[in-house]
Amino acid sequence: MLDRTLEVGRWTLADLVPAKSGPAMEAVLAELDDAVRSLETWRGRLDASMAAATFGSLVRDMERVAYVASVLRGYSTLWFSEQTGDSDALSFQQRIDSQLAEAQNRTLFVEHWWKSLDEANAQRLLAAAGDVAYHLETLRRFAPYTLAEPVEQAINLKDVNGIRGIGTIYDMIANALTFEITIDGETKRLTRTELMIYARDPDPAKRSAAYEAMLNEFIAHKDVLAQLYKYTAGDWHQENVALRGISSPIAVRNLQNDVPDDVIDTLLEVCRENAPVYQRFFRLKAGWIGMDRLRRCDIYAPLQPVVRTYTYDEALRLVHQCFDGFAPRLAELSDRVVAAGHVDSQPRPGKDTGAFCYGVVPDKTPWVLVNFNGRVENVGTLAHELGHAVHALLASDHSVFTSHSSLPLAETASNFAQMLLLHVLLDSDRDPAFRRYLLAKYVDESYGSILRQAFFVLFEREAHRKVHEDSATADDLAVRYLDTLREQFGASVDVPDEFRWEWISIPHIYQTPFYCYAYTFGHLLVLALYQEYQREGEAFVSRYVRLLARGGSMPPLAILEEAGFNVRTKAFWQGGFDVIAGMIDELETLSGASPKGKRRP
Ligand SMILES: [Zn+2]
Repeated sequence: MLDRTLEVGRWTLADLVPAKSGPAMEAVLAELDDAVRSLETWRGRLDASMAAATFGSLVRDMERVAYVASVLRGYSTLWFSEQTGDSDALSFQQRIDSQLAEAQNRTLFVEHWWKSLDEANAQRLLAAAGDVAYHLETLRRFAPYTLAEPVEQAINLKDVNGIRGIGTIYDMIANALTFEITIDGETKRLTRTELMIYARDPDPAKRSAAYEAMLNEFIAHKDVLAQLYKYTAGDWHQENVALRGISSPIAVRNLQNDVPDDVIDTLLEVCRENAPVYQRFFRLKAGWIGMDRLRRCDIYAPLQPVVRTYTYDEALRLVHQCFDGFAPRLAELSDRVVAAGHVDSQPRPGKDTGAFCYGVVPDKTPWVLVNFNGRVENVGTLAHELGHAVHALLASDHSVFTSHSSLPLAETASNFAQMLLLHVLLDSDRDPAFRRYLLAKYVDESYGSILRQAFFVLFEREAHRKVHEDSATADDLAVRYLDTLREQFGASVDVPDEFRWEWISIPHIYQTPFYCYAYTFGHLLVLALYQEYQREGEAFVSRYVRLLARGGSMPPLAILEEAGFNVRTKAFWQGGFDVIAGMIDELETLSGASPKGKRRP
């Protein structure tokens, strides 16, 4: 642990490129040009029968371009995010964007060649590709579903004015909506973001007014928006299932995530069976906010906060402690990021207001951006982002193509770090009110990323089928959506009929069908892993570290299975819900509720 007291500050980017401009930066730009030229010399030399060793040098040339491009993209992104109003940062970003686009155009022929290579030669070369193999496989994953070139060209051309046009029209309509609401006697028109602040208002009347305003406006446009959804689902089916031969609409997304269909089916089934876990939470929450039963619009009602403040130094020590208690090596890696001066923690005007960790290239310590204001949430964010950094450092001996983990595992280390921190905080502070606040907040937020998302996907699965097989009408889909809400909330939450149109307000189901289960997968995975950790203790640590150290060098399922986690079983995912149920047990005790009918911890 660092021996000096740390205060919020800015990061240094000098480890990436020593200076923002001048000879050092020009040298990196020249290196990009040189790497691109080398790769370009392969034009005309790409031969399906090339020797494995020749292919090896092609891959090294590809890696060299990707590495320099990552350095430049990383530098421009980091510089811009530390000061978004800086015109030098902006013009540098524009310069890099156009240089990288040009580099990509000049070298695209390599990927095209690789994707269209016959299967036998591709397998032969893959066997010799070493660490980069999984990246190369990913590029070819859709090869069995690729159509003849003129058909692909026609799809591309027609998509521009077809399905992508549908998506644009949805955005244009949805984003242009404004919502009328009367607050404290004053009627105003708000954007959706402004309106939804009232969904989290302590006043129940304001919460219901916000949802009423939102649904009214969408219902006024329901015929057009529902029709756009039917075109979206119809096109998804026609192209991917009918033409390309992928087995089902959801299998298209599973293929992209490289997760087997049965794993996602199991995940969704377990979510469905565990809806009562959150129903129990909503009944408790109703009591806390003085209601007999929550209405749908009360789901995000705020919890009475218990205020604790932390200095930046205290926050870093807590994060260090949470890693150190788990595995000292993780604490060392997290400290390395801080010691390198790679954390920009200071809030200031013009800086990106969010938080992220950016692992630019495998051999450089990642950079972390947060806005530290001393609240307990900021300590959580710090643990989350440093968790990402630890993941990147553990995977740093992989290629620039395979060090980043793929989507299903991308939030593992970050969310796991937050779980570790939660327990450090719970152990360090025995004040029941603070414990209740921490646990309640965790369960409250987990609902939005686990159960709500799973039920969106359960609806989509049904809706895509109904649009294709039953030529469902908008009303049919609305009825089906209401069924999913009623199943989700049971008797614990009162769901008014108008909520049957909520789905036409969810951009994800239009823009990226079936995407939402990634949130469920990511969060529930971490809870399930945490349960194994609680059960196994020390023995779990090396399996978990091994999982992280794989980065993105193997399919997500292979990484999990190699580390001994069998995500194909219901029992695995149930473990995640058991952690949530255990938290609710404790919340019941802390609330003085009857412990009768308690679930196992
Ligand atoms: Zn994250």
